[in-house]
Amino acid sequence: MSTLNMSKTTLFCPHCELMMKDHSDAEAVAEFGCCHDCKLHFVDPDKVSWHAGSRPSASKVSDRIKRRNQFRVKHYKLAA
Ligand SMILES: [Zn+2]
Repeated sequence: MSTLNMSKTTLFCPHCELMMKDHSDAEAVAEFGCCHDCKLHFVDPDKVSWHAGSRPSASKVSDRIKRRNQFRVKHYKLAA
């Protein structure tokens, strides 16, 4: 069982500013200081740079938010 440092938990991701929603987000914040989605798209491809302090540009974060929102629209679209 992993331990989770709740002192690092926040309600919104400091990078994409979206609301944290589940345990995977809380774990990502505790370990990397971002939500699980940011971890998957910005941390995992280059953890060395992330740990060295590199962060995604505002345009990369904005592009990711747009892509994520497009995906969600498809899930919430009502059938005719
Ligand atoms: Zn995020």
